[in-house]
Parts: sequence; C-alpha cells; structure tokens
Amino acid sequence: MNQARIPILMYHQIDVAPPKGTPLRGLVVSPRTFSRHMWMMHFLGYQGLSMGELMPYLRGERTGRVFGITFDDGYENNFHNALPVLRRLRFSATCYAVAARIGQSNIWDLDEGIGQVSLMNEAQLQAWIDAGQEIGSHTSNHLDLTVCAQQSLELEIGGSRRLLESFLRQPGGVQHFCYPYGRLNTDSLQCVAQAAYVSATTTRRGRVPVPVQDGALTLPRVLVSRSTTWVQLLLKCLTNYEDRRGVQG
Ligand SMILES: [Zn+2]
Repeated sequence: MNQARIPILMYHQIDVAPPKGTPLRGLVVSPRTFSRHMWMMHFLGYQGLSMGELMPYLRGERTGRVFGITFDDGYENNFHNALPVLRRLRFSATCYAVAARIGQSNIWDLDEGIGQVSLMNEAQLQAWIDAGQEIGSHTSNHLDLTVCAQQSLELEIGGSRRLLESFLRQPGGVQHFCYPYGRLNTDSLQCVAQAAYVSATTTRRGRVPVPVQDGALTLPRVLVSRSTTWVQLLLKCLTNYEDRRGVQG
C-alpha cells in the first residue's frame, strides 16, 4: 500500500441479502463477503483499526500496514455478523451509533420507504466495546445537519456524545463522529470542533492523505457495497482508484 494514503472503509449492514428491489439493498454486505474482505486484507499483512487506533497513523506518528474500519448507523447485524470476524483477526472497528435510537430501528429512513432493521441495544454496544471495538457518534437522530438550526445542531453533535458516554459509562470515551448522509457545512463543522471530536468522517470518496491536513474533521472514506468483490476492495485500498473518484466528485 502507498502509505502516503490510508483507506477508511465504510460499511453499513452486514447481513444476508434482502429481497431484490429493496431500497439500499446494495449497502447490505453479506457476512461471507465481509469475512472475505477482512481475511484478504489480513492475508496481505494489513491490520484493520478503529478510528481511535488509526489516528496515530493518520497523523503520521506511526507507520505500518493499516486501514480503518467503520460501520454507519449501529445495526444489530454488525454485532452478530461482523464482530466474530473482527475478533478472530484481532481487528478493531468503529461503529457510529445514533444516540437517541439505541435499541430501536432506522426510523429516519421510514419516509423513504426503506425497511426497518434493528439497531444495537445498550447491552450490545457495551459488549462491542468490551470486545475491543469502538463506538462513535452518528448524531442523536440522524438528521441532515445542513438544515438544522443552531440549537438542534448542538443537540445532535455535542448532545449525542454526552448521551452515548452516559449510556456506556465512558466519560470522554466517544471521540469520533460521522456526518449523516455525509452532509456538512461550516456551522456543523464548527460544532463538531467545539464538541472536541478527534475525528469526523464523511462519504466523500478517497483515501486519507497522511499526515492528515487541517485537523481530521472532514475525512474521506471508501464505500464498500454488496457487490464489492475482494479484488475491487484491493483496488480501492491499494491504488488511487478511489482518490481519483473523490476529486471528480
Ligand atoms: Zn447513517
């Protein structure tokens, strides 16, 4: 891998395929595919890391064959289907939970006609952490932050951090943030900085240039979908395939 750039993988659900025609079906990666992705990276000598463990590499303080692993929304199927693979390989990952929806479902998707899937409950989030994994914040209610008033911005960004830390009895333990829909503007960026998050990830495509410039609050990621084969994953991680797409928009 060109260590001047580090990929942060973005997964959503890890589960068997919902019926054809289901909206966002492409974001449901099968357990078998996920396992193959992780084992292939392991086989090539790369270690998958949570955002907390990846930060020294992104800052250029450490070097090594590493990549980031993130899961958006906090689905229960991450707990059942991804955690065993991560544990087996001694990889760590960050799961971005929606703080006011713990133990519920993705109700923010209801208006779009997207099926409801269980989110991890408090005990599962705790077990996720106990297994050496990390929880980050994906806001309180999964709102588009670019259309939020200032007061609700604070509740979504700083408030979600406080809520998760109190749930998890981990003061200061939630240090990483992910923008819902990858949407941000100057106000939301400023609010993320004020809430003292160490990193924040977007849906902009690309690998992170190292050392990371201008803080780490607008990090690009590498989307992994249902149809991403391990060969494509290697292309996305080891070449400038994704970086060029990020530039093109
Ligand atoms: Zn999301």
